[in-house]
Amino acid sequence: MMNFSIDKQEIFLELSYIQKCRQILHEEFIIKKKRKPKFFLHSFGCQGNLAESEKIKGMLLEMGYEPTNNFKNADFVIFNTCAVRESAQNRVIGNLGILIHNKEHFNKDMKIAVCGCMVQQNSVAQKIKRMFPSINLVFGTHVLHKFAHMVFDVLNAKKTIYSIENSDGVVAEGLPIKRDSCLKAFVPISYGCNNFCTYCIVPYVKGRERSRKFKEIIDEVQNLVKQGYKEITLLGQNVNSYGFDLENDNFNFSNLLIALNAIEGNFRIRFLTSHPKNLTKNLINTIANCEKVCNHIHLPVQSGSNKILKKMNRNYEIETYLDLVDYAKSKLKGLTISTDIIVGFPGETYVDFKQTLDVVKTVKFSYVFGFIFSKREGTKAAEMEDLIPREEKAKWLNELINCQNKICDEINKSFIGKTEQVLFESKLKNSNNIVFGRTNSNLIVRCEDDGLSLNKFKQVKIIDSCRTFLVGEIL
Ligand code: SAH
Ligand code: SF4
Repeated sequence: MMNFSIDKQEIFLELSYIQKCRQILHEEFIIKKKRKPKFFLHSFGCQGNLAESEKIKGMLLEMGYEPTNNFKNADFVIFNTCAVRESAQNRVIGNLGILIHNKEHFNKDMKIAVCGCMVQQNSVAQKIKRMFPSINLVFGTHVLHKFAHMVFDVLNAKKTIYSIENSDGVVAEGLPIKRDSCLKAFVPISYGCNNFCTYCIVPYVKGRERSRKFKEIIDEVQNLVKQGYKEITLLGQNVNSYGFDLENDNFNFSNLLIALNAIEGNFRIRFLTSHPKNLTKNLINTIANCEKVCNHIHLPVQSGSNKILKKMNRNYEIETYLDLVDYAKSKLKGLTISTDIIVGFPGETYVDFKQTLDVVKTVKFSYVFGFIFSKREGTKAAEMEDLIPREEKAKWLNELINCQNKICDEINKSFIGKTEQVLFESKLKNSNNIVFGRTNSNLIVRCEDDGLSLNKFKQVKIIDSCRTFLVGEIL
């Protein structure tokens, strides 16, 4: 049993740097420039990154920074990066180019930090260092709790700080947090991943799977519900293996759902992501028995071909996946299932791809995130022979999208005439009477509104649909 938790005293010491930064910034900005310092933070990638960015924002606000939407006049710009696909990495490099140009020509005092998965890869961190020497701070995924300390060093030493610790990772509780929404909250339940799917960089950049303590999660959710949050999304690369590293077998995902479901209040529970190899029938029964847990599972299948699943090291066969889907559909009325699919994995033939299409047609996913295989340096798949040209893979992806579009049309149509509980979360831009929300099963609903529905649960009669959303009437 590994202990990944950082001692509370150590975190307290690290957080004491927030006050030290505050003093320096007060002197430099409030006294000298008669204004608050401004930060601009942009997150690339997954919800896990968004959750980490909310902690960075929490610390920045406590230092005395205020947010700005305009990077050009920011005093501190932070990019929280993603490494899952090459395209995400290229976007960061492109944006950094623009940012550095702005810094060098118009805003020389601007501080720039790059953090997250992309720079946790040593070779990429080195490349960034060479390409953009005027970046002030580069730090990896395992040192977030030292953020204030690093900012203090940047403000003080006026030199570049690099902190890419190559460890298994940590669990740091008690960091300040500024959530982007007052309605929906992301709550990480575990960090890192132990699965080593052969295409995936995540286990290398996020470290070993580390579960947060049961009580810490329950306390956090209890607090969020007290503050009025109505939707809690539990996050982990594989939520189903939550607790495997904890000392007590009772601290597992099923029991976590039961405990969270017992918290009083009017709120929903969602979770991301379920790995099919650890989704058990017992867990499906638990979901069925917990009325606050939503009828939606994101269950990445990746491929419909057993040959490819094996090469991907996914540790399930497609028959087991389909069996689980059947069981879940039989137990969870109105269930929707979304998925991730990789197209053009090394060694994949059109016959393999057709098997994936068959699975898409059989399961009828509510949403498919389709990706062309992207070679990630350091993973096993990067060394596999990959003979299919990219244009061919793009054709396959198009075929997948066309197939899924028809299924989305069909699923959405099947909701016409039904009454659904919808949590309204946003307004149409420049309009006061069109609102958007989501059903329990995570489908988007558009309604006309009298101005009273935002941030509330409402019963909605579905009267029409299109490919991307349902149209409803608030009852
Ligand atoms: N832990 C989650 C998600 C990880 S990354 C899971 O296991 O499902 C999100 C998705 O990105 C993956 O499901 C996969 O479909 C895709 N992905 C990961 N690495 C990729 C790569 N090298 N090329 C293309 N897609 C990739
Ligand atoms: Fe990557 Fe597989 Fe882990 Fe998901 S389960 S993060 S795809 S290694």
